[in-house]
Amino acid sequence: MDNKNTTPLIISGVFFAVLESLIFTLWYKSNYNTTFFLLNQDWFNSNLFQYLTIVSATTILFLSMTIYLILTRRFKVNALADKKLKGLLDSREMFLKLYESAPVAYLLVSPEGRVHFPNKAALRLLGVKANELEKKPFVDFLDESDREHAQVLIGRATGGSGVSDEEMQIVRPNGEKRWVLLSIFPLKAWIGKGKNGLINLIDITKQKKVDKVKTEFVSLASHQLRTPLSAVKWYAELLVQGDVGELSPAQLRYVQKMQDGNERMIELVNTLLSVSRMELGTLVVDKKKVEAREIVSSVLEELNSQISERKQKVTLNIDQNLPLIDTDSKLFRIVVQNLISNASKYTHPEGQITVSLQKVQENLVFAVVDTGIGIPADEQEKVFTKFFRSSNATKGSVDGVGLGLYIVKQVMEVLGGSVSFKSEEGSGTTFTATLPI
Ligand code: ADP
Repeated sequence: MDNKNTTPLIISGVFFAVLESLIFTLWYKSNYNTTFFLLNQDWFNSNLFQYLTIVSATTILFLSMTIYLILTRRFKVNALADKKLKGLLDSREMFLKLYESAPVAYLLVSPEGRVHFPNKAALRLLGVKANELEKKPFVDFLDESDREHAQVLIGRATGGSGVSDEEMQIVRPNGEKRWVLLSIFPLKAWIGKGKNGLINLIDITKQKKVDKVKTEFVSLASHQLRTPLSAVKWYAELLVQGDVGELSPAQLRYVQKMQDGNERMIELVNTLLSVSRMELGTLVVDKKKVEAREIVSSVLEELNSQISERKQKVTLNIDQNLPLIDTDSKLFRIVVQNLISNASKYTHPEGQITVSLQKVQENLVFAVVDTGIGIPADEQEKVFTKFFRSSNATKGSVDGVGLGLYIVKQVMEVLGGSVSFKSEEGSGTTFTATLPI
């Protein structure tokens, strides 16, 4: 307790002490009839006076104690509040200092998407001064292709659900672009009404450059591998056809095994090439009017040996009056091929596969339903990520590299469509690809 707080306490203590001594003196005088200053009067000796003296003394004693307790408590509460407030101010100051000088970029956005309180790292990353940023729309600092998406994310975050690790490009005033991972955490409003978003930006430009170099390497290597693989394919065909002399049954068997292995290598190289093209943004999209039905039929024909070897039953549910669709037939074929081939690969022999192609409103909907092993519920969110393989697929030793669905997803996005799935482990899976007509 400091001096300021104890002064009223001391004053009240002295006041009551004086009052009590006075009353005690009077009481003493009345009881022992002592001459005491001017108070040697008859009525001081009366019973009434003695009675009044005792009552007043007790009341005053009680009152003084109560007041003492109240004051002490109040001072204690005040002192505690002072201490807490100081603690709070200290931690607020500490928080602001940490926020200000954190090495990671932070800024707040209002529900309209305007920037407030950028920290130093945010200013450094965006290459601006505080006054050039304050209250400006956040999306103005992004690459044009990311603006619409970012605005949707801000709306989502200020509506209450967080957003994490979205890749975007920011553009500095000098035109330099930097890749960032954008996360937005909803916060109780500091500015205006509704929720604000705390934006966190992580610069991933370096990682992106390294990724690009790796992808370029994969692209180059795959490209270079195609030529020798084609040569092996061609010479093996010559041998099988007997163009250079009849092979013995054993020789023929071995050459056919070499052919199978070579086909798998060609498939893998083509897959790697597609992934690297998509990641480098060099995938050429050549849209034309195409018959989706023909693509499905040709893929089924190509996969016929795989399906009949596994004695699986295929049911077709194809709308006969489908309009032509405006798409890239090679890319759409990749989607159809991957989904039907997976349905066969991940369905037990003698299982059922249903392939349907329908016009639903202004969309072409291609669906593949199987009665296969399904995908475990807790792994489903990763299905379209690179190299994903479900635990039940690897346990069952089904061959695969986990790139097919990643490619399907990217291709569908490039074509302006989407892909989704429903699956239950042990019961089966449905993949649905939707393309605008
Ligand atoms: P791959 O088949 O080469 O492993 P994909 O990217 O095509 O790669 O598939 C990724 C994973 O998704 C598969 O390994 C499998 O676990 C699961 N999967 C894909 N399609 C199906 C399906 N129709 N039924 C069950 N699991 C599937």
